[in-house]
Amino acid sequence: MITSKSLLKIIQNIAEAIKSNKEYLTDLDNPIGDSDHGINMSKGFTAVLNKLEDLKDKDCGTILKTVAMTLISTVGGASGPLYGTAFLKSSMVVSGKMDIDKQDAVKIFYEAIEGIKIRGKAQKGDKTMLDALIPAHEALEKAVENGEDTIMAFERAAIAAQEGVEFTKTIIARKGRASYLGERSIGHQDPGATSSYIIIREIANTLK
Ligand code: ADP
Ligand code: MG
Ligand code: MG
Repeated sequence: MITSKSLLKIIQNIAEAIKSNKEYLTDLDNPIGDSDHGINMSKGFTAVLNKLEDLKDKDCGTILKTVAMTLISTVGGASGPLYGTAFLKSSMVVSGKMDIDKQDAVKIFYEAIEGIKIRGKAQKGDKTMLDALIPAHEALEKAVENGEDTIMAFERAAIAAQEGVEFTKTIIARKGRASYLGERSIGHQDPGATSSYIIIREIANTLK
């Protein structure tokens, strides 16, 4: 079970991790993009950090919706609307709820992924954030079905996301700026998949 208070802590830790990986994410965007993924994400999550104080005692849906709106309004580039949509769809799963149970967590990831797919018209294997998020969701769902606790389920999700990031090095980009490179995108790690991994890793670490 994740309470609204622990959700706020998770979001704070995600925001801090994104900020400390600003350069790393930007460097990953250099060879296959326009060198701004870390800048975009860091700007968005800095704005999120500034909203956290107002979110104390709010329900999980309101918290996630505020993150969504903040990312949509502050992040330029493809990643802003995509992550914004993901958080917005997630927020609807726990609208009015003061905690998130394991089934909600699985549903949150499912809805986030569906939102990204619709918005970005991308699929698994296109070398995007989905290549970290889809395996993470699958691992989370399987762990929950097997009766594992929230901590273990998110640890498995984080490991699966990391493997997904590694996989992006081997494939051709079919969506976003990296797709302009075609075969030359092979060998490079996708920045958006990496930021998705960082987010899931922070959820797992915060729950421990
Ligand atoms: P921009 O490409 O506009 O500069 P960012 O650099 O912030 O935006 O984000 C790039 C990341 O966004 C990519 O690494 C990829 O993971 C993700 N991305 C780009 N286009 C799509 C899409 N259509 N669907 C899903 N993810 C995408
Ligand atoms: Mg970019
Ligand atoms: Mg850009």
